[in-house]
Amino acid sequence: MLCYRLAPTAAQEATMRDHCAHARYVWNLAVEQHSWWRPGRRSAPTYLKQCRQLTEARAECGWLREGSQMVQQQALRDFDQAMRSFYGGTHGRPSWRKAGRDEGFWIVAVKPEHVRRLGRKTGQAWVPKAGWVRFRWSRQVPDGVKSYRVTLDRAGRWHISFVAIPEPILSPGTGEVVGIDRGAAVSATLSTGQMLMVPRLSPSRQRRLRRLQRKIARASRGSKRRAQAKLAIARLRARETDMRKDWVEKTSTDLARRFDLIRVENLRITSMTRSARGTAGNPGRNVRAKAGLNREIMRSGWGLLVRRLEQKAPGRVERISPAYTSQRCSACGHIAAESRKSQALFACVACNFICNADVNAAINIAAGHAVTARGGDGVTRPANREPQLLSQSA
Ligand SMILES: [Zn+2]
Repeated sequence: MLCYRLAPTAAQEATMRDHCAHARYVWNLAVEQHSWWRPGRRSAPTYLKQCRQLTEARAECGWLREGSQMVQQQALRDFDQAMRSFYGGTHGRPSWRKAGRDEGFWIVAVKPEHVRRLGRKTGQAWVPKAGWVRFRWSRQVPDGVKSYRVTLDRAGRWHISFVAIPEPILSPGTGEVVGIDRGAAVSATLSTGQMLMVPRLSPSRQRRLRRLQRKIARASRGSKRRAQAKLAIARLRARETDMRKDWVEKTSTDLARRFDLIRVENLRITSMTRSARGTAGNPGRNVRAKAGLNREIMRSGWGLLVRRLEQKAPGRVERISPAYTSQRCSACGHIAAESRKSQALFACVACNFICNADVNAAINIAAGHAVTARGGDGVTRPANREPQLLSQSA
């Protein structure tokens, strides 16, 4: 997704805030419907059934009817996709969207003339009921845009993201295989020994963030000082998100260029079998806290990294069961929990092989003992995740 800064007029902003509210309302209804579901009960409504329910709701509710049907229907579609990702194991269960935090909506069935360039630095895009909304033409808009998402971030900035599936990158043809371990101490470790770090805010910005957080804790609720501090925090977080996304794009391109086959852990299984990782041994103070922080940062970055890899290297990404990857010796294959001496150190009890624990795990992943799924070849799962319009009406 390529993101651009939107510059709506005051009237357009009001309309788009309504769109956001409608999308959030519909999404939360879907979450509620699915939260009632338990194994053994009749299944929760499908996307198609929800669409029919939406039509009925619009007939009864003037507030909804005044909004765009496309925006509301896409919220259902979005939810449907989120449930698929949840069952596919790449994402957590879709949860409630909160006002002021998760604001955005999809525009689909876009025709080429719906996005156009006005000048060197400005473009405009069509938004139902809001009309032509200007955006900063900060880089070329990709050809063949089929949909876009409009979002309002916590810092109060509007953005438009054009969905463009990245072009596949040609494999180098060297036959080289890489394993990627989602590390605890670093963001990701390659079987080559290379450590990858997701960029973080500079130390001075981190200090500023902590200062602002203390300020918020002291300020009284609803005060102006508190609102200002919250906005400043949101700006810093937005910057961090930008850095992370940029890192994912660069890293996935680099990996797709360098390696023929890329093996990653299957996330779903990871969360179940390796939740206790890091408790073995006591590597020192604060390490676990830092690991937790790093996991937090990586949580959203990792899913995106794997998705991008599957798009850029279609058919060349394999998901591996992470069972025993941290306990298996990559030299002799002996599996023993005692070999994992600490967070950082692996020392085989059978052959005395010594290795960085994350690198050892990455080598095991590269060896691909248990392939659970091949992604990105368009067969095992839908490769094109672009939302589509169900009916003609919008
Ligand atoms: Zn060994």
